[in-house]
Amino acid sequence: MKRKFFVAGNWKMNGSTSFNEDLINFFNQAEIRDQNVEIGVAVPSVYLSNIVNNLRKDWFVAAQNCFKNEKGAYTGEISCHMLKDIGVNWSIIGHSERRIIFNESDELVGEKCEYLLSQGMKVILCVGELRSERESGETKQVCLRQLKAATEKLKDWSNLVIAYEPVWAIGTGKVATPEEAQEVHKVIREWLRTSVSATVAESMSIVYGGSVKAENCVDLGKMEDIDGFLVGGASINKREFIEICNSQVL
Ligand code: PEP
Repeated sequence: MKRKFFVAGNWKMNGSTSFNEDLINFFNQAEIRDQNVEIGVAVPSVYLSNIVNNLRKDWFVAAQNCFKNEKGAYTGEISCHMLKDIGVNWSIIGHSERRIIFNESDELVGEKCEYLLSQGMKVILCVGELRSERESGETKQVCLRQLKAATEKLKDWSNLVIAYEPVWAIGTGKVATPEEAQEVHKVIREWLRTSVSATVAESMSIVYGGSVKAENCVDLGKMEDIDGFLVGGASINKREFIEICNSQVL
């Protein structure tokens, strides 16, 4: 069975009430020509409620991060129970900006990933190597280490999407070539096949992130194991994001 194409926009720490309104109005009227694409936006937590209420209902809304407990003394954090309470069922976990700027360890990312999935949330789990790790030939080890740490105790894989996001490509304009990205996606799928199951390997959406733009998304999306994109900078460019969403039918 062909996997559904998947495109999520990560707004990072961008937006304002008026900026979001303009973006959402545009998205709500945009024509999505591909019927086989799942689309969503991961927005700053203060705007989640508003976007849930105003965004077209065939798209999903995601948080960009979420903690690993239900409630309590975790100042500044939000729980997946709170997200579900306002109608948000998705969260990005393990984005490299969280790992690097906020020192999130593989272990913490794993705890979050497993807790969220156990609570019925859907998770976009990010993995990816630094430039130095690629240059020293460690890409495969790093991605699989992060993936294993995040999924060690996982029983049900159905609500997970894996995003391969090479850190050197994020926000830099230096996109991985389709071949470079495909190579890692294939490694991840093979690992799923041998370590989890053939069914999980075949059904898992493995999306690419790192300077995806209208000009490079068509070629990336043609690769066998690239099932969509996690888009940062280009996701707040309204026309470009829609072009990326329609990249499979261009
Ligand atoms: C991201 O934030 O996940 C990302 C891939 O960013 P960009 O597209 O800007 O590289």
